[in-house]
Amino acid sequence: MPPPIRLRFAPSPNGYLHLGHAYSALFTWSMAHRLGGEALLRIEDIDLARCKPDFYAALSEDLNWLGLSWREPLLRQSDHFPAYHAAFARLLARELIYPCFCTRKEIAQRATATDPDGAPRYPGTCRTLSGEERERRLDQGQPVQWRLDMGQAEADAGALAVKELAPETLAESSRQAKPAAWGDAVIVRKDTPTSYHLSVVVDDAYQQISHVTRGMDLYAATDLHRLLQALLGLPSPVYCHHALINGQDERKLSKSEGAKSLRQLRSEGVSAAEIRAMLGFA
Ligand code: GLU
Repeated sequence: MPPPIRLRFAPSPNGYLHLGHAYSALFTWSMAHRLGGEALLRIEDIDLARCKPDFYAALSEDLNWLGLSWREPLLRQSDHFPAYHAAFARLLARELIYPCFCTRKEIAQRATATDPDGAPRYPGTCRTLSGEERERRLDQGQPVQWRLDMGQAEADAGALAVKELAPETLAESSRQAKPAAWGDAVIVRKDTPTSYHLSVVVDDAYQQISHVTRGMDLYAATDLHRLLQALLGLPSPVYCHHALINGQDERKLSKSEGAKSLRQLRSEGVSAAEIRAMLGFA
């Protein structure tokens, strides 16, 4: 039997959905339809301090209002910390990650380059700490984040291809992943026992996601995800990144309109059909 065609929309409940989210969600359900598969909703709530109960409820309500539905029960990442821990333990056992005790300020002072998100690229300070020093600081309970040893990880994984899908033609192609631009990326954060990058690859595999649809803002992150999939022995989906609506002049969405939440637009009398038409999914 061929593997299922399964897509996902994976918002974080740390605010109300706006037009950018609506575009991404409609894009995902439309692609699922075109590919003959299904779209799932996944709640990416690893950031427990920023995710509020009110936003969870609003999220489903707004998506339903747009005419979208999905299979229940849905996956909440906050229910999946043991799976992220297991992935972390696998990387640790292979000595592909190391503890980093640097503060944000120290990194900013020492960095000589930036990562694809424009953040200071980690200069590798803690990579060379001795085993004893690591133990000592961990025992002391110093705040710790865990980083990928990018050089080692790339050497272990070898050359990797990212499969891509062109949204217009549905043609598949592939390109070589270049994760090194991220440097020694954070795999487990200080404030939550995972990271976006780790959770997303674990869950895309767990949910058997065949196609990842998301905005161009995550294009470079895909290379890091591809590397993590290889290191963890996970399958790699096909990626399809869409343009961000605020960057698309032809869609004539003013900045202020784009920033408004769906519920605000709804309260101003805008209908779901109008939103769909405005975003090109009439
Ligand atoms: N939770 C991520 C976000 O809201 C999306 C992650 C993804 O689609 O891979 O930006």
